Amino acid sequence: MSYHVNEKGYYGEFGGAYIPEMLYPNVEELRQNYLKITAEPSFQEEFDALLKDYVGRPTPLYFAERLSAEYNTKIYLKREDLCHTGAHKVNNTIGQILLAKRLGKTRIIAETGAGQHGVATATVCALMGLQCIVYMGEIDIKRQAPNVARMKMLGAEVRPALSGSRTLKDATNEAIRDWINNPVDTYYIIGSVVGPHPYPDMVARFQSVTSKEIKEQLLEKEGNENPDYVIACVGGGSNAAGAYYHFLDDESVKIIAVEAAGLGVDSGESAATSALGKVGVIHGSKTLLMQSLDGQITEPYSISAGLDYPGVGPMHANLFATGRAEFISITDEQAMNWGLKLSKMEGLIPAIESAHAFAVLDQKQFKPTDVVVINLSGRGDKDLNTYIDYFKL
Ligand SMILES: *Cc1c(COP(=O)(O)O)cnc(C)c1O
Repeated sequence: MSYHVNEKGYYGEFGGAYIPEMLYPNVEELRQNYLKITAEPSFQEEFDALLKDYVGRPTPLYFAERLSAEYNTKIYLKREDLCHTGAHKVNNTIGQILLAKRLGKTRIIAETGAGQHGVATATVCALMGLQCIVYMGEIDIKRQAPNVARMKMLGAEVRPALSGSRTLKDATNEAIRDWINNPVDTYYIIGSVVGPHPYPDMVARFQSVTSKEIKEQLLEKEGNENPDYVIACVGGGSNAAGAYYHFLDDESVKIIAVEAAGLGVDSGESAATSALGKVGVIHGSKTLLMQSLDGQITEPYSISAGLDYPGVGPMHANLFATGRAEFISITDEQAMNWGLKLSKMEGLIPAIESAHAFAVLDQKQFKPTDVVVINLSGRGDKDLNTYIDYFKL
């Protein structure tokens, strides 16, 4: 049994490409070309060189000595917080922009919620000299002013989505509309392992550099390339997919996925998709999503903007349904306290998304000999104002 995508674009019963007919040519062009192009030696050379010299890879695998002592187990942190732009998202945008160039596309569009994917996309568009349009909900534009400014400095145009709740899902709808209207010259860079096939698989492959490096680094440090546990937070699921990728089919490695419980799973203010979601279709893929009884997508909530998504990618829906991964939900309060704790114990101020993953240490018992890898998906600079307000700093 494999937990990777099958040739039809499914992970178990999840995935596929549930798209309007007018989007079919764009998605089909991508489906037919993504494996061929990304396997070309010239693509791989350019991708690897940019990850090394531009992003700063490989990112270190850091043995967290004080944390390990407190929890009496061996805790390693994969330092995606050290990537250029402050998180893992740039691994994916570099991969997709190289693909876009080889497909002859000259205009890049993206959707963004908190603005992190918008910044990562604007960054690679500047790097390649391509036009960049980022759709963003009007509410999010107001909430995330520093990232809007960053995108503008990088030369991107930020277009407000004015419909619906004026947040991420509306921005996504606008981006899809744009792509339908501009099928020939435009490439849509999706920011997580979501969307119609082949996006989830493509994004997972670009992010899989994380688990490739973890294997090499653990072999050197522990004499065994497999950890006992790999832990990551899940919004759409791209940093988690990258951290799990090369361990998916090796059941000796236990996988833990951490979702945002917000104010509590049963509070009505949550983003814990596995706990609350039902099977449905969102953004072109069949997956688990939070919805009302009549099938309308419900507004998610989390203090961390990156986990504030009503679905999970199809890979993760399947990991949940099959029991391959254990899903744990962590509240705002638990995550915020870990943001402070990690800062004080290890000198690392995490993104609030990443802080959720650490709270697993209080929920599960690990053995002294266990090797536990936690994916530190991003740094906390972007969250400073949230930390300031929350802790009255
Ligand atoms: C965007 C983001 C996430 C959530 O996105 P995934 O696709 O689930 O990885 C997690 N951590 C950080 C730091 C982010 O910026």
